[in-house]
Amino acid sequence: GPATVKELSSKFGREVSEIIKKLMVLGVMAGINQEVDIETASILGSEFGITVEELPPAEDPTEIPEIEDSPESLLPRPPVVTIMGHVDHGKTSLLDAIRQTNVTAQEAGGITQHIGAYQVNYQGKKVVFLDTPGHEAFTAMRARGAQVTDVAILVVAADDGVMPQTIEAINHAKAAKVPIIVAVNKIDRPEANPDRVTQQLTEHGLVPEQWGGDTIVVPVSAHTKAGISELLEMILLVSEVQDLKANPNRLAYGTIIEAQLDKGRGPVASVLVQKGTLHIGDTIIAGTAFGKVRAMVNERGEKLKKAPPSTPVEVLGLSDVPQAGDILVAVDESTARAVAEKRFAKKRTDEMNQVQKVSLDDLFSQIQEGKLKDLNIVIKADVQGSIEALRQAFAGLQNKEVRVSIVHAGVGAINESDVMLASAANALIIGFNVRPDANSRKAAEAEKIDIRTYRIIYDVINDVEAAMTGMLAPEY
Ligand code: GDP
Repeated sequence: GPATVKELSSKFGREVSEIIKKLMVLGVMAGINQEVDIETASILGSEFGITVEELPPAEDPTEIPEIEDSPESLLPRPPVVTIMGHVDHGKTSLLDAIRQTNVTAQEAGGITQHIGAYQVNYQGKKVVFLDTPGHEAFTAMRARGAQVTDVAILVVAADDGVMPQTIEAINHAKAAKVPIIVAVNKIDRPEANPDRVTQQLTEHGLVPEQWGGDTIVVPVSAHTKAGISELLEMILLVSEVQDLKANPNRLAYGTIIEAQLDKGRGPVASVLVQKGTLHIGDTIIAGTAFGKVRAMVNERGEKLKKAPPSTPVEVLGLSDVPQAGDILVAVDESTARAVAEKRFAKKRTDEMNQVQKVSLDDLFSQIQEGKLKDLNIVIKADVQGSIEALRQAFAGLQNKEVRVSIVHAGVGAINESDVMLASAANALIIGFNVRPDANSRKAAEAEKIDIRTYRIIYDVINDVEAAMTGMLAPEY
């Protein structure tokens, strides 16, 4: 990887100033902490009669190296879908409707249990639905670095239209770069006004195909089941374009979608297998938990011996309860044990050091170290007008080192979902005439998110600008 000027100076045994001068001759203007790529470093080395070789990146003892899958090893896998939208717009009802209309008679007799996701068969093709609706779960997983969703279904009630959480959901999906299919629900209701919904969506950048855009909009009713097949068809269509593939013939890699401690069975974790195949008896590690797969059960209560890509399964046999969003991998036993121990130790020190994500206080040093190119901001304000004013003011704040980027802006108090989004996007939160609620305060502490509240626009801009230039006065 690249090395800084300072590192090169010590490796070459030359003064920093000498390195900087030589770089200047090569047309590179560099500061002491600037990273120099390997090509430039080689040329520089040859000037001093030193051969520069790139070393493989140092292994992080808390990471398990990812297995590279060759293109030939990849086979098609089913899409994974998340349903998002405003409260009461019908997310749960839609999940139930999809499930009911797509189980065979024989399956319908079985007991279904909640394992955080389920698989349906539609026209011989499988589709996986995460059934923890709402973008909280989605964003909580993303905050931990997990990307499990291939397609987002945005549910909007035809009798209620676009609401604050609809907009949140749109921004969450966009931030994750996940394609959105809109399901305009409750079209059976007499007050339903799907055209108004379409109009409102357009205002939020989702222009329907009928109107010349590229957003697929499907009118549905979770109650009458109208439009459910069309919705599934559209999911298959969108995922076909994505060309989703995974190698089933390797050790498993997946994401924990839910986990809890069961009195009788011990730690129980629902896993979405994403690559490889998970087998009974495999040694696994997820977060700081590890163990051997003792049993696997699907959402119909059936025992499984193996789980290929895009299979949600409940796994028994972990030593401890992992967290939703933790990555689960199958490895050999000694690695599992050693890495789990290292992770546990690291968790301890991290907790002690309390690593802060982006904050105004250390913004300047992060920019200087070249760690930060985008200053991501979540804005919550009392009225839409304030949001617009802040947007415009921020637009004027770009400098060449860092770009201000607004990940989400909404009216209302700062809530837990804002904090999770900020955590996923490494953003700071600015509240204008609004305050964080108790839950979000707790979440911000846990996620190390900087929340700043203001009453005067000038103060917001002043603080952000000062932080960008390293002139921020310390807060007391
Ligand atoms: P969620 O909060 O988004 O999960 O919404 P729910 O699925 O709990 O639905 C909220 C309410 O809307 C419930 O009373 C549902 O019965 C009702 N509902 C959901 N879908 C439909 C629909 O297609 N038509 C009608 N008329 N009501 C619906």
